[in-house]
Amino acid sequence: MKTIIEPFRIKVVEPIRMTTAEERERILHEAGFNLFLVHADDVLIDLLTDSGTGAMSSEQWAGIMRGDESYAGAKSWFVLQERVQEITGFPHVLPTHQGRASERILFELLGGAGKIVPNNNHFDTTRANIEHTGAQAVDLVIEEGRQPTNRHPFKGNMDLGRLENLIKEAGRDRIPVVMMTITNNSGGGQPVSLENLRAVREICDEHKLPFFLDACRFAENAWFIKQREPGQQDRGVREIVRDVFSLADGATISAKKDGLVNIGGLLLLRDEELVRQADELLILTEGFITYGGLAGRDLEAMAQGLEEVVHEDYLQYRIRSTAYLGERLLAAGIQIVEPPGGHAIYVDARAFCPHVPPERFPGQALVIALYRHAGIRAVEIGSVMFGQGSNTPAMELVRLAIPRRVYTQSHIDYVIEAIIEVHQQRDRIRGLEITWEPPSLRHFTARFREA
Ligand SMILES: *Cc1c(COP(=O)(O)O)cnc(C)c1O
Repeated sequence: MKTIIEPFRIKVVEPIRMTTAEERERILHEAGFNLFLVHADDVLIDLLTDSGTGAMSSEQWAGIMRGDESYAGAKSWFVLQERVQEITGFPHVLPTHQGRASERILFELLGGAGKIVPNNNHFDTTRANIEHTGAQAVDLVIEEGRQPTNRHPFKGNMDLGRLENLIKEAGRDRIPVVMMTITNNSGGGQPVSLENLRAVREICDEHKLPFFLDACRFAENAWFIKQREPGQQDRGVREIVRDVFSLADGATISAKKDGLVNIGGLLLLRDEELVRQADELLILTEGFITYGGLAGRDLEAMAQGLEEVVHEDYLQYRIRSTAYLGERLLAAGIQIVEPPGGHAIYVDARAFCPHVPPERFPGQALVIALYRHAGIRAVEIGSVMFGQGSNTPAMELVRLAIPRRVYTQSHIDYVIEAIIEVHQQRDRIRGLEITWEPPSLRHFTARFREA
């Protein structure tokens, strides 16, 4: 049989509501043409992010009831610690309320003026946390990763030559850590190969540099390795996950992705001295080291989510359902970042509306058009998100992120039809200009008007 089904039944349902075209017009004006400022109730299909938007399983909800809310040494903490140690092999596990809290702690310890942090592609909060300390965040993804139509199997890979050059030119003393984001969110949800991770590890060893993973989607990345990397087909996802983590000195994780929870994060470390310093910062702003700003019930749900995410029937369904959306759009002549990524499909907004110039934000313009037409919420990943200051992003993308275990195939079919209809009338899409923006991370709160 060819159909890959959702490997679950639905036990609880949450109604969604269609708005009228007039309502959506009013809502867009009130929100300053920024969908981060729209009420979620006014969205029909919400593809804003896959972060913290997933559905929990019955076992996770059972864990919520088991949650031990003791301040220190809660039973739920030890359940989580043991699960993370078992899945990742890391000895030291610090709980945080989400990924950026792990980043903030890590870069407060390793960042600082004059420092340079290389990555395949920094995620926006990672970049902001690095730059907040005065350090510089540098993206070194392979050339193929910057080309929307290139079907390289591991477009998240690091350009090893550019990494070597950076280390030579900047000097190893200015580089406190080399990061790799798996999968590469900002670069299109594209995976990184085991071979590339091993090569980066070797370069780090040669120059005595620590190597950290931004491992939010470690399970999806492992599935791609199993599917695409020679010699990996017969290995279990769990084994591949262990291999990947064994290469790193540490990891920052947002559990809102492959942790299959609505809130939570992790900071994984090996170095005892770094652990001591990180514990101090954790207590300062997050909470005690056995809860890190989370409730005991959140720790339980995260422990169970980390177990379910490495199940191969789940990963097969997950990656296949994202590819289904991407392949249908491609078949309709809509350019996406190829091949389809793990957690999202990224539409090439420059190709979609070539009449909107980059300074009129073609990605944001397409996001607005999708909401206006069909009540779908997507997010711009282009000049609005990354173009502040002197940055010029390589691509103007619109990300359709797929929440985990939330929408069925007919929801996705509706999204496909809507995008095809907007594409047929794409001449009508209007560019935007910014009327207000904050000093950083402007995409969250900036306001626009149609130009
Ligand atoms: C989501 C994400 C983060 C930040 O995590 P939050 O939980 O949103 O703070 C960091 N890196 C990547 C690659 C992400 O996708």
